[in-house]
Formats: sequence, C-alpha cells, structure tokens
Amino acid sequence: MKSFDVAIIGSGPAGASAAFELSKSGISTVIIEKETLPRYKTCGGGFVFRGRKNMPFDIASVVDKEFFEIDTYFSKKHSHITTKRDQPIISMVMRDAFDNLIVEKAKENGVTLLQNHKVESITFGDIQTLHTSEGDITAKFIIAADGALSPIAKMAGWSETRTIIPALEYEVEVPQADFERLSQNVRFDLDAIPYGYGWCFPKKNHLSIGVGVFTKTHDKINLKQHYADYLKTLGITEILTEAAHGFVIPVSPRTDCFVQKNVFLTGDAAGLADPLVAEGISNAILSGVLAAKAIIESDLDADKAAALYTEKLEETILPEVRTGVLISHLFYHQKRVRNIILKKYGQFVADAMADVFMGIRTYPKDYKASLRRKIKEVLF
Ligand SMILES: Cc1cc2nc3c(=O)[nH]c(=O)nc-3n(C[C@H](O)[C@H](O)[C@H](O)COP(=O)(O)OP(=O)(O)OC[C@H]3O[C@@H](n4cnc5c(N)ncnc54)[C@H](O)[C@@H]3O)c2cc1C
Repeated sequence: MKSFDVAIIGSGPAGASAAFELSKSGISTVIIEKETLPRYKTCGGGFVFRGRKNMPFDIASVVDKEFFEIDTYFSKKHSHITTKRDQPIISMVMRDAFDNLIVEKAKENGVTLLQNHKVESITFGDIQTLHTSEGDITAKFIIAADGALSPIAKMAGWSETRTIIPALEYEVEVPQADFERLSQNVRFDLDAIPYGYGWCFPKKNHLSIGVGVFTKTHDKINLKQHYADYLKTLGITEILTEAAHGFVIPVSPRTDCFVQKNVFLTGDAAGLADPLVAEGISNAILSGVLAAKAIIESDLDADKAAALYTEKLEETILPEVRTGVLISHLFYHQKRVRNIILKKYGQFVADAMADVFMGIRTYPKDYKASLRRKIKEVLF
C-alpha cells in the first residue's frame, strides 16, 4: 500500500497549490484525482489579480487574454461603468491548462499524482486509509480540495452549512464580427438575471458566457431562459458552436469548522468563493497554501496543524467572505435601492470592487453605516 504524510484530494487550484507549497518542504505528498488531467472544469476562468500576483511562478503560458478594464452594466436604463487599472484586473484562463500547470510544477518538486483514482470511502484513525477506485492509500493528513460537492467532507462527517448557488456557463463560438466586438472587454451585467448577474468573458477564440443566481431565493429561476435572453442583450443572434455546462458554487463559508478527523477543507469544499461575484479561484489557491503551511509549521502535529489552519483562515479569508455574504444579500435582494445608489455612486462602487479584485482592499466592515450614509445623500 502506498503511504504519504499528506494526501490531497482534488487537483483544482486549491489542491494543486497545497501540493506545490508542501513540495517545497520535503513532506511526502500525493494528489489523488478522479479525472484524467488536464480535465475540463466548468468555470468562467476569470482569474483576478489578487490571486495572480501571489502565484509562485509565471502563468503567462496559460493566460488566454488579460484585461486591464472591466465594464459593469446595471439597470437597462443606465449606461455602463468602466473601471481601469495598470495591471490586469482579470486574466482569462481555461481551467484545464491552468490547473494542470500548477500540478506539473508540484510534480517537478516531487509530488506524486494519482489520476483516475476516485476516493470512495475513508477509514479514519491516527493514520487515514483512503479507499480509491484503484486501491488503498494511507496518509496522516488529508487536504480536501475536492470542490463544491466535496464527497470527502461528507465522509468526514460534515453536514451542509454552505449556501450553494446554481450557475450555467457556455463556451460559445460566434461569427468573427461579434467576436471582435465582444472580445475587447470583460463584461458583467447585473440585471441580466434576478438575484444574480450575467458575464461575458472573452477567451482566445471563443466567449465564456454565463448566468448565475448569487443568493438563496425561493423564486423559481429558469437559468436557460435567462441565458437565452442574455445572448440577446449581448447582441448575439448567430452561434457557431456552443457547449453548455451547469454546476454549483458555494458562496458562504462553512459555519461549523474547517478541520476534523485530520481532514482540512480548502477552496469550494470549505465555501471560500467570493459571495458577491462567486470568484473562487484566488481563495481556493490561498486556502490550499494556508492548509499546507499549517501542516508544515506544525511539524506534522495534528492538533497544532488544525489550530494553525483555523487561525490562518480567521486572519485572512474568513472576515472578508463573511462580510461579503451580508453585502451580497443586500446587493441582490434590494435591487431598487442598489440601482439608485449605483446611478449616483456607480463609479465609486465599481472602483472599490476592482480594488478587491486587485487585492488592495477588502469589503468594508462598516458597510451598513456607509450604505446608510450613501442612501441619505441620494435621498436628500
Ligand atoms: C459556472 C461557474 C463559473 C465560475 N467562474 C469563475 C470565474 O470566472 N473565476 C473564478 O475565480 N471562479 C469561478 N468559479 C468558481 C471556481 O470554479 C471554483 O471556486 C474553483 O474551481 C474552486 O477550486 P477548488 O480547487 O476548490 O475545486 P475544483 O476546481 O472544483 O477541483 C476539485 C477537484 O476534485 C476532484 N474530485 C472531486 N471528488 C473527488 C474524489 N472523490 N476523488 C478524487 N478526486 C475528486 C475533481 O475532479 C476536481 O478536479 C466558477 C464556478 C462555476 C460553477
């Protein structure tokens, strides 16, 4: 039976980045992945600068396009807002190539990759035995980087406390004139769908177009219809090829804990995507790195590592995503108030959001007071 200090389940940005960080320490590490790499991952592939600037190696070879400007459209009656920066606010990647690059870098440093290995169950103890479709593997620590559905979290005993939202994403080829028109800028359309937004992300030769509902709602929402309507908003009347992908994104963190039975939850498994826009790659990477650092700094002491990881999450990602959850609720449920404010302060809000994407500010903790101030200014 193969034995390792750390078994990482999942080769997405969280798992691959945890592996890369561990690989620098000499701790024996395996990535266990159920798919064959490089594998397609449903995702807009918009990688924001706060994630890119912390990458430990150059990722230019897997970047399709870089955008230094973002266009945000809200209420159909108003024109759009453009935000510019000197560095790429969003880099467009295809996730198969991007995720695989990080895995390859980890492999170069000695990490073992077991692909086509699906973890089916785990026997927990001082040492964990992972029962995979291709045989058993043992490890002291498990990093669960197995995405939104996180079967590993279920196996370790977590019940569901994240808010999970549906999103549809299409890889679309359009006629050349439409591609040239739509591939100049990244575009978010806040009113494309109730309680969510639509996005148009240009890739090298095609567009990633999607719609998502970003908060819990009891209203029935027909995502396919909203996608069809969004194509009209974008002025697309002819489609050359179209590949549809639907999946879910957790947009609130788990409320109980992030480590138990020596299983460390990272990325979507922990619920760390940005609650306002569902940008999940950058926090997946950061959480993977934090889990790895906690294990390294603990000298493989399970209790110490668990405490360190929780502390690191509390110092970095969690305050931001918890505030994001509250802001997101206001943003998507109070549409009229939001659009009145955006009409007057749209540029300010778009610039603040770009600063969050750039990693130079976080969501304001006093957002309620500042919102009240802005409403008063608009009304009086
Ligand atoms: C439609 C859509 C659009 C999105 N657009 C963006 C965007 O533009 N920008 C952005 O930042 N984020 C976006 N996201 C969110 C982003 O995709 C996720 O937050 C991110 O992929 C989380 O990374 P992760 O490493 O936690 O998990 P994942 O990337 O989901 O990786 C999990 C891995 O675990 C493997 N796995 C699962 N179960 C097992 C098992 N039992 N055994 C072995 N392996 C297993 C899977 O095969 C997979 O490779 C989008 C999400 C969706 C659904």
